[in-house]
Amino acid sequence: IVLLHALLYIALLPSFNLCLDPEWASYKLGIFICLNCSGIHRNLPEVSRVKSIHLDFWENDLVEFMKTHGNLWAKAKYEAKVPPFYYIPHSKDCLVLKEQWIRAKYEREEFVATSTAIKHPWLPCLGVGCRTVKVQCR
Ligand SMILES: [Zn+2]
Repeated sequence: IVLLHALLYIALLPSFNLCLDPEWASYKLGIFICLNCSGIHRNLPEVSRVKSIHLDFWENDLVEFMKTHGNLWAKAKYEAKVPPFYYIPHSKDCLVLKEQWIRAKYEREEFVATSTAIKHPWLPCLGVGCRTVKVQCR
């Protein structure tokens, strides 16, 4: 129970500002995702492993991993080199588009940062600025 609360607390931090209520998480990528995306991530066991926030057991080290990674971190790493006019699917787009995006992003790592030093965007809230950052769970 304590672990569950810790995880939800992490998911609701401003720096995890999500497009949707997170119900699922990829504990291999350290991101929180919605039901639709969890279905896609489930098909990519090489790069992503999915657990339910509410229903699955979360070991302490996995909770720590989630705390030190997260959606902003993944965005900084896996979307570092997205071309300026590349179409990133929105919540209402179909699953096929989302799957193509997720595969390009995590499986083929097409946009990944080449620098080994990824600036960690996981910062405490310092004001209104961080709340304006919208991170998509995809
Ligand atoms: Zn999603």
